[in-house]
Amino acid sequence: MAATILNGTELAAQMRAETAERVAAYRQKSDRKPGLAIVLVGDRPDSQIYVRSKLKTADEAGFDAEVFSLSATTSREEVLATVDRLNRNPTFDGILVQSPLPEALGPDAMQQVFDCIDPEKDVDGVTPVNVGKLVQNRASLVACTPAGIIEMLERSRVPIAGAHAVVIGRSEIVGKPVALLLLHRHATVTICHSKTRGLERIAAEADILVAALGKPGFVRRNFVKPGATVIDVGINRVTDRAVAGNLLGEASDRFAGFLKRGSVVVGDVHPEVTDVAGALTPVPGGVGPMTIAMVLANTLKAAENRLHAESGPDRGHRHR
Ligand code: NAP
Repeated sequence: MAATILNGTELAAQMRAETAERVAAYRQKSDRKPGLAIVLVGDRPDSQIYVRSKLKTADEAGFDAEVFSLSATTSREEVLATVDRLNRNPTFDGILVQSPLPEALGPDAMQQVFDCIDPEKDVDGVTPVNVGKLVQNRASLVACTPAGIIEMLERSRVPIAGAHAVVIGRSEIVGKPVALLLLHRHATVTICHSKTRGLERIAAEADILVAALGKPGFVRRNFVKPGATVIDVGINRVTDRAVAGNLLGEASDRFAGFLKRGSVVVGDVHPEVTDVAGALTPVPGGVGPMTIAMVLANTLKAAENRLHAESGPDRGHRHR
């Protein structure tokens, strides 16, 4: 029997509707919209698409969203200065720096930029303060993709407590935070990475398998325990005809779309997994829309936190 599809597009629409209601309540107390600043450095087409999509969704949900575009040749100092200005700009409750940054900025640029974001405006939970709070299970702002995955599991009533969760990937923005969120919900968590021995065997023990490695169709049927819930985080643009044909099947509509456009977006999980898994997130239409819904939810949370701090007894005092 084919796996149940966990429809991220529908779940994200539900979340956005809930956020819109909360925005309306927030506007009763505040004379301004919640503000989101998105910093985009360089001209990667995929980043431009993600940023446009976040901007459009934020506009529709009643946010004041603005993109700050910097050229691919921008210096690290200019990126840091932009973030610093946004930290001090009261229009914005949330700041999101689109990753990856151009390689020319150097391997540690992303971390240095993250370090510079005001933790209270850190809507992707990337600052050391918010990562530390996540480790201690007292985070207010948590990385959007991992938080979106948890929303998906909870809204789909997938039991987490007591489950064995295996996360493939240990990045700062997906693998590590999702592992911590699952742990805090009482899953027994195994984190795998490129040096893990016996990956297939470990993955096949999972009740919940999260694939976040960035390799098209990497997770095959033998990685999956029958009935397991499989979360496919991967967003991989494939341009090779043979790879696309193998993943999509040459008779499929999606392959016809590939032939027309010359590329297709696929996940880290091979489509054959649908025959084994109990539930599966599609790509596109799975984790991606949940991530965007979480960006809005987190920006609103940052705005509410700020309103609360400004109207509280120690108003004006902001903790770093
Ligand atoms: P990343 O920073 O490149 O990290 C990839 C992780 O996968 C690393 O920990 C790496 O291990 C591990 N890995 C790579 N090859 C492996 C292999 N053969 N076996 C086991 N582990 C392996 O990637 P990321 O930023 O976490 O993103 C992962 C994927 O999710 C990408 O496709 C990305 O586009 C997608 N993504 C989607 C969303 C969304 O909204 N849906 C958001 C963010 C990212 P090492 O640490 O040992 O190198």
